[in-house]
Amino acid sequence: MTQLSDDFDCPAAVTDGAYWLPFSANRRMKANPVRRIMARAKGPYYYTEAGEELFDTLSGLWCTPLGHGHPRIVEALKTQAETLDYCTAFQVTNPVTVRLAGRIAERAPQGLNHVFFANSGSESVDTALKIALGYHRLRGEGNRFRMIGREKGYHGVGFGGMSVGGIVPNRKMFATAMIPGVDHLRHTHDPVHMAFSRGQPNWGADRADDLERLVALHDASTIAAVIVEPVQGSSGVIVPPVGYLQRLREICTRHGILLIFDEVITGFGRLGANFAAERFGVTPDMIVFAKAITNGVVPMGGVIVSDEIYNSFMTGPENAIEFCHGYTYSGHPLAAAVAHAVLDVMEEDAVLERVRALEPVLEEAVHTLRGLNLVSDIRNIGLTAAVDVVPVDGAPGARGLSIFEKGLESGLLLRCTGDTIAFGPPFISTPEQIYAMVDGVRRLIQAAD
Ligand code: PMP
Repeated sequence: MTQLSDDFDCPAAVTDGAYWLPFSANRRMKANPVRRIMARAKGPYYYTEAGEELFDTLSGLWCTPLGHGHPRIVEALKTQAETLDYCTAFQVTNPVTVRLAGRIAERAPQGLNHVFFANSGSESVDTALKIALGYHRLRGEGNRFRMIGREKGYHGVGFGGMSVGGIVPNRKMFATAMIPGVDHLRHTHDPVHMAFSRGQPNWGADRADDLERLVALHDASTIAAVIVEPVQGSSGVIVPPVGYLQRLREICTRHGILLIFDEVITGFGRLGANFAAERFGVTPDMIVFAKAITNGVVPMGGVIVSDEIYNSFMTGPENAIEFCHGYTYSGHPLAAAVAHAVLDVMEEDAVLERVRALEPVLEEAVHTLRGLNLVSDIRNIGLTAAVDVVPVDGAPGARGLSIFEKGLESGLLLRCTGDTIAFGPPFISTPEQIYAMVDGVRRLIQAAD
């Protein structure tokens, strides 16, 4: 057992490895924990124990768009903790969560009116996949068991999400344990036809026809659902080509396949709309959300479900329980209270309008990196963007990691996946902060050359 002395020294304690960090280079961190331990956060900044300030370039992991320590959110959390700190969602509920479901449904596209709560993106994805299976079964089409994901897709780390996901390193170690019957569409990034595109690229809508090929291969009667991130976030902000999502929708409808949008990143404002579905004018059968709904303060996720799907569970012979699925913390009242505060702030501070106003600022800023020797592509939409840097020969990801580490020393908490630097600054950022962030990255890329 690790002994903690009275004069506990956090950086020194990191090196003993009691804490195993997720998705991290643990050995490198142990070797040099300096500036990796965030003691406080306020607005768009983190502060280390020594008081160094770091700009939060990805809003946590895309989850703190209203900034840290928002007084309205802190107040809502405190008040709720004093009023009702927990309530099971099995057979009973509470007013805060019930009202939240209504508010979320109000913001969702027409026809998506029912919210099932979970606690993370991963749980919410697996929930959506299970709803899809249940829906088909209830309609007498239980043979529809196949799930179609997309290369480079990220849908969390549960067995379902991992299986439909398409980021190779996330799958490799567990390749023997994928759920059966999963296939993948190609991703839509093509560095030749759409290099340095701004917003949606005009090339590549026909990649949606991959779905027709999979229908021909497997037969539509075996396919339950297609799940895609409208904008692929974790693999580096891959923006859907104009018309691509519309085409996926048409093909799904034609073959009775459910379309699931994983909006864990795009939901609640990142694209200047409540959902990507609204921004792109395409209505899926289910929307998976998490992250921004609670500004990262208390975990929450969920699935917004169409009337058609919900009603299929609520009709027919009555079982004691319609859907044998759920979590101890589904619809947690603390998370729900925080989510109300988030929606209040978004409305009262006209946050979506602010994101729409900042979109061209980030676009202009980030595309000024074009022309740097090491920059091979730049993409952006809404308040998110990504810059690809040329990998070190024979060591993919090494340059990204080194830029991340140098960023810590220069006041930027960056998110590099492989050799891609992703930006998703808080919605409360000023244009000056956005330019300063990009200028900082410019210096890091130049220094890496
Ligand atoms: N889906 C998408 C699109 C995501 O971006 C993420 C997290 N980055 C997840 C699912 C998984 O969410 P969580 O880490 O909360 O399980």
